[in-house]
Amino acid sequence: MSALSYIHPRANQQVQWGAVTLGYFLERAQRRSIGLMVSSEGLVVRMPLRASLRDVDAALLEKSRWILKKLQETQQRAHLQQAARMEWRDGALLPYLGQQLLLKLQPVAALRRQSAILQAGREAEATLMLQIAVPLLAQEQHIKVPVQQWFMQQAQNHFRQRLDHFAPMLQVRWTRLGLSNAATRWGSAKTDGSIRLNWRLMHFQPAVLDYVVVHELSHLREMNHSPRFWSTVESVIPDYARLRKQLKESNAPAW
Ligand SMILES: [Zn+2]
Repeated sequence: MSALSYIHPRANQQVQWGAVTLGYFLERAQRRSIGLMVSSEGLVVRMPLRASLRDVDAALLEKSRWILKKLQETQQRAHLQQAARMEWRDGALLPYLGQQLLLKLQPVAALRRQSAILQAGREAEATLMLQIAVPLLAQEQHIKVPVQQWFMQQAQNHFRQRLDHFAPMLQVRWTRLGLSNAATRWGSAKTDGSIRLNWRLMHFQPAVLDYVVVHELSHLREMNHSPRFWSTVESVIPDYARLRKQLKESNAPAW
């Protein structure tokens, strides 16, 4: 096994488990038990004022499998996000409804209004092409802003259509659609029938979006995640578990 090291940027403690070096940030706090938190930076341990370092060592050893699994997962996720970071330039590819969208910049001498227009793709690798009018010396914002506006417009149309498609099947009525922009939250529903969906979902495959739409609509019947809720989801999307897992493993590009 090769040597692995996980060092928190503020590490003040270190343990060695075989080939694994773990540097973590330890702080004392007014609390009853030892708390462990894993983020993309690494492990943070919060210990009660009265506990000893030996207690911490024992707690870490007991949870070592969980800690290493979490560290590995968060590191992988950080790498994927880094790899998925968007480059805003002519010819860049962006996932859109599970397909590739090619960004084509069209420099315009006197740009009146920013616009993005979808064209049938001609390039071999990309099936769709988004043509964006930009000023002659385009900067990142000149590309990003119209593309985001275009994504949000598509999201409005697509979500409305899917909400209208699934609502009668679930015998619910939705009232309002709002677009959200959260980093990790994909949707929410309120008892008054208003639904919020994240426009970044438009990066994913339509089946995954349908799962999120049905999930939120099902909340209009069950405002919880009880077995009744899940069987409501399942009544419309029998393989929802697979799509749910796919959504968890999906990474939207960082804009
Ligand atoms: Zn839910």
